[in-house]
Amino acid sequence: MVSRSIEPGSTRTKSKTRSLPRSRKNGLRAIRTGAVPAVTLIPGDGVGPEVISAAVEVIKAAGVKIDWDRQAGGAAALKRFGNPVPDELLESLRRTGVALKGPLETRVGVGYRSINVFLRKTFDLYANLRPTHSFKGVHTPFRNVDLIVVRENTEDLYSGIEHEVAPGVVESIKVITARASKRIARFAFEYARQNRRRSVTAIHKANIMKLSDGLFLKCARAIAKGYPEIRYQEQIVDAACMRLVTDPSSFDILLLENLYGDIVSDLCAGLVGGLGLVPGANYGDKGAIFEAVHGTAPDIAGKDLANPIAAILSGAMMLDYLGRGAAAARIRAATGAVLRSGRVLTRDLGGKAGTREMTDAVIRAMHRQRG
Ligand code: NAD
Repeated sequence: MVSRSIEPGSTRTKSKTRSLPRSRKNGLRAIRTGAVPAVTLIPGDGVGPEVISAAVEVIKAAGVKIDWDRQAGGAAALKRFGNPVPDELLESLRRTGVALKGPLETRVGVGYRSINVFLRKTFDLYANLRPTHSFKGVHTPFRNVDLIVVRENTEDLYSGIEHEVAPGVVESIKVITARASKRIARFAFEYARQNRRRSVTAIHKANIMKLSDGLFLKCARAIAKGYPEIRYQEQIVDAACMRLVTDPSSFDILLLENLYGDIVSDLCAGLVGGLGLVPGANYGDKGAIFEAVHGTAPDIAGKDLANPIAAILSGAMMLDYLGRGAAAARIRAATGAVLRSGRVLTRDLGGKAGTREMTDAVIRAMHRQRG
């Protein structure tokens, strides 16, 4: 089953307006629970439009009204407007402060820089949270995997500072700051405290990158002192990967820099049945963008083959953030029931169902709960 744990933003107070972000110690804001929330909807590229429309339908079926502001981004926007990140998209995000987003294409080695990275940096969405749990009915080598990946989202080798020193020699700069390292560590420990998690493991390569990863660790250790009830441990990234695929239960919350976080997230997704299942959120002080861990999956795009569960569960994380926790719980229960029964599964999970069929099954399961 998926976690019922509360997302870090869920200790909500009723503020007068949700357009004003509330800075909290863990960097999240509280949202007014009464009104119809406005949310930017970015269908994205590849399988994005298919899985995002599945999430929108499921949210509607869960009884939540959202004022969606649909905006193009990535390759889709480049094709339509000649710009992968149009001003209208940025204005919409500034206005709503919340988005549900499909994956955006970033070409390998050439082309424009990642729009995902651009959005995370522009809106300072510094905490990438990726809850990764086993699902009953999805057969994998391990049962009861329950991992929370907390990834720093704004710096590291994603700084985009790359240059050619001389022909055949390039440099790529890894940027690690105490400010960003401390706030992501604080986010991880706050999450652990609010959700009664048992440990935080900082994952690093400080044996080689003594200054950069060394600073990250130093900051994590300093923050850990404020949370004596939560066990703090450290592990070198290569050994951590080996331990994750042999004994995932020895981890609880994983605290990582940007690049290690990206890689280890996909590894963790593999432990629970694949990228089609794992949701995610990018939180900042002024808003949040919710998106699955997976990319555009060009090999299956437009064929009704994509698993919509990761996008649907990202939608559930968004509902938690918007103060619609009961609807989020209904969605989690329905997706859990569909996976558990094993009758309607997409191909990545060994079934024959398409995106449409899986979405309908989740909606039916939700109606059954209500009826
Ligand atoms: P990917 O996640 O798109 O695909 C990896 C594999 O997982 C593929 O075999 C794909 O078919 C499968 N897969 C992914 N999502 C699935 C789903 N919902 N259901 C069933 N199978 C699924 O990774 P990639 O191929 O390395 O990247 C493709 C593109 O996506 C690249 O342009 C990359 O930059 C982009 N990307 C975007 C994001 C984002 O927008 N947040 C994240 C990762 C990758």
